[in-house]
Amino acid sequence: MYQGECLCGAVKYAVNEVIDTLECCHCLKCRKAHASAFAMGTTITRANFSLHSGAEHLTEFESSAGKLRVFCNQCGAHIYAYRPREPLNLRLRPALLNTDLSKFKIKHIFTANRLCL
Ligand SMILES: [Zn+2]
Ligand SMILES: [Zn+2]
Repeated sequence: MYQGECLCGAVKYAVNEVIDTLECCHCLKCRKAHASAFAMGTTITRANFSLHSGAEHLTEFESSAGKLRVFCNQCGAHIYAYRPREPLNLRLRPALLNTDLSKFKIKHIFTANRLCL
C-alpha cells in the first residue's frame, strides 16, 4: 500500500494498511532523536510492516525506559519506534514514505514544547 525508505536507501519497507492521521510530536525526545523541531509518527500494526531490505542496518536505541527507537546505522534516519510491552504495534516515522504526505490528516501532540508551526 505504501513504500518507504531511509535517506541512504539501504532500508526499504512496505506498509500494508491504510494510514489516516499523521501525528507531529513536539516532545523533547523526538526533537533530539530527529534533530528537528518535531517528528511525524503514526501507529501501525506490526504485522502490516514488511521490511524489504536493510535488516543488517537497523539499530535500536532505548531513548526512555521501555521505548526503542530504530534507525538506519548508515544514514541515521529514524525508521520506527516500538515498545516491547506492546508487541503488536509499531510507531512508524511516516516522513520516510514515498507518498504524498499532504493527503493525510495532521494532528499535533506534545505541543507544550512546540518551537514552530
Ligand atoms: Zn539509511
Ligand atoms: Zn515525541
